Amino acid sequence: MSVLAELLAVVAPPSCPGCRRALMRADERLCATCVRGLPWLLPGCARCGLPVHRGSACPAASAAFSRAWAPMAYQGVARQLVGALKFRAALPVADLMAAHMAATLPVALRGLDAVLVPVPPQRARRRARGYDPAGCLTGALGRRLGLPVATCLVRSDRAGRQVGAGWRARQEAGRIVVRVRGAPPPRVVVVDDVHTTGATLDACCRALVDAGVRVVAVLSYARTL
Ligand SMILES: [Zn+2]
Ligand SMILES: [Zn+2]
Repeated sequence: MSVLAELLAVVAPPSCPGCRRALMRADERLCATCVRGLPWLLPGCARCGLPVHRGSACPAASAAFSRAWAPMAYQGVARQLVGALKFRAALPVADLMAAHMAATLPVALRGLDAVLVPVPPQRARRRARGYDPAGCLTGALGRRLGLPVATCLVRSDRAGRQVGAGWRARQEAGRIVVRVRGAPPPRVVVVDDVHTTGATLDACCRALVDAGVRVVAVLSYARTL
């Protein structure tokens, strides 16, 4: 803890990104209540990342990725953190989320010889925000895992906001247009903040596979149950 950080904490006490209450200590990143409330996911299906399949079939049975993992359910404190990352430009939150991911990464996904590739933002949204949440999370995760990052995917669809869009709307084929830019690395792990239906992740993986890339896994911070 630097003197400057302590001084800043006195002038403007940092708030918890989970509940926005003031943090007690300057080196605390999430309050004790939010730490206890983190919705960790139990290990489940290695292919889709769900702890249990609702219905009988794996929703990722025909996806272009064969392994998906997320440490959190997209609810409660994890949902607040994703919101803080997406909508309040809280970049230190990206490192906190990356720490949660790195600390609980399954053994099978450790020590990978792969490059992390963020799911690309829609251009209009990136322009509106001025930065890219999934890219920030991927950068933070790369630093934690000691893996390089390549932003080799671009989106060229004109889809509207995914948050709040109906499940059917998000499932619509052709809405998500992703292409590979430049020469992609041979082995990649695709990273996003939230794994919802998997349609965007699938489109990203399909574009990579078509370009001859081996997609090792898709990692996200939170999984919609
Ligand atoms: Zn809190
Ligand atoms: Zn599954």
